[in-house]
Amino acid sequence: MMAAATKKIWMDGKLVDSADAKVHVLGHTLHYGVGVFEGIRAYPTPAGPAIFRLPEHVARLVASARFYRMPLPYSAEEIARAIIDTQRANEITPSYIRPIIYRGEPALGVKNQKGRVSLAVAAIPAKKYLGEQSESGVRAKISPFRKPHSDAIPSYAKADGNYLNSYLAGIDAAEDGYDEAILLDQNGFVAEGTGENVFLVRGGTIYTPGPESDILIGVTRASVLQIAKDLGYPVVEKLLSVNELLSADEAFFSGTYAEVAPVREVSHYVLGNGTPGPITRDIMDVFYRTVRGEEPRYASWLTPVTPPARAVPRPARRAATS
Ligand code: PMP
Repeated sequence: MMAAATKKIWMDGKLVDSADAKVHVLGHTLHYGVGVFEGIRAYPTPAGPAIFRLPEHVARLVASARFYRMPLPYSAEEIARAIIDTQRANEITPSYIRPIIYRGEPALGVKNQKGRVSLAVAAIPAKKYLGEQSESGVRAKISPFRKPHSDAIPSYAKADGNYLNSYLAGIDAAEDGYDEAILLDQNGFVAEGTGENVFLVRGGTIYTPGPESDILIGVTRASVLQIAKDLGYPVVEKLLSVNELLSADEAFFSGTYAEVAPVREVSHYVLGNGTPGPITRDIMDVFYRTVRGEEPRYASWLTPVTPPARAVPRPARRAATS
């Protein structure tokens, strides 16, 4: 994800030029990591641009803010509207949309809860996660950095500070020549990627860690679980050992940015024959058709980015001729 190539950013009710979207250097969020955010994608569809699972992302954002005691001056409907307005103002598809809730006014002191809670929303051009590897398969490294236990930092709230952990794991994997990291939980079970949930396939069954592995409960994960069940695959959420991952037939990541991306190798262990397996491809196929608006079954997962309501000119009234 690169620099924000965007025109307008929504900040507390106004669409401002990107260059003017600034906050104070003494803002609470910058110092203590107490902010919450979302990553959302908008896709081109035959009916125009559409946002994938908007209500689910807004609900998670509201829940994350609530957990961190950030009283929001906006309702869920207003946040959804701000996201749609930002997407429309920038006319970018596919796009990656980033709403963030933060305290940006000068307020030092870790327990400081004073100061306005703000919402900003940006939309930037969305790239394919890891480019070519997103199709041919990602090489992932089991990270030496483990997920913090949710009793320390809850994984189900998507908070800024959680990403210190993802950052360390991600750069460690990159320095070792891998595309991505897979983090274990405090008990050594498989948890998730730096910004993705992880699935594996063994003997025709799909497995993924559950909430007890200190994962973010991904919106894409829920979509994949639904698609997998509808395709008739057995799906099991359970604690997964490293061994089960290293000897899996197939594995894949799910996430808003990663979408559905095959994993072909984990810490030098080649999975299956080193190419995306048939079940992974089956799920990818339905997922990518869904986001492009080609799967009527999941049409309700897409929120159209409708043009602004305009006053429709009324036809001139004609004098009665009869
Ligand atoms: N885990 C982590 C740590 C993440 O940052 C993300 C990305 N939001 C995910 C999983 C996947 O979640 P989603 O499918 O909702 O994007």
